[in-house]
Amino acid sequence: MRFKMQYKRKICKFCENKEVPVDYKNSSTLKRFLTEEGKILPRRITGTCASHQRQVVTAIKRARNIALIAYSADVKNV
Ligand SMILES: [Zn+2]
Repeated sequence: MRFKMQYKRKICKFCENKEVPVDYKNSSTLKRFLTEEGKILPRRITGTCASHQRQVVTAIKRARNIALIAYSADVKNV
């Protein structure tokens, strides 16, 4: 009996590792979901599931509000 190889799909980071919280204070994690320009990466690139993506987006917006994440690349290294 042949074993059918399963297509390796991206797993949502937050589903995979439940110890990593989607938190606006966790800026180092959130930065992985941002481009160099500080734009939020789409779900198809990060592989994040819909519910976590929504949490990530909310957390990023919150982090921006309190200036944990820079709005643009210009102020990144100040
Ligand atoms: Zn998820």
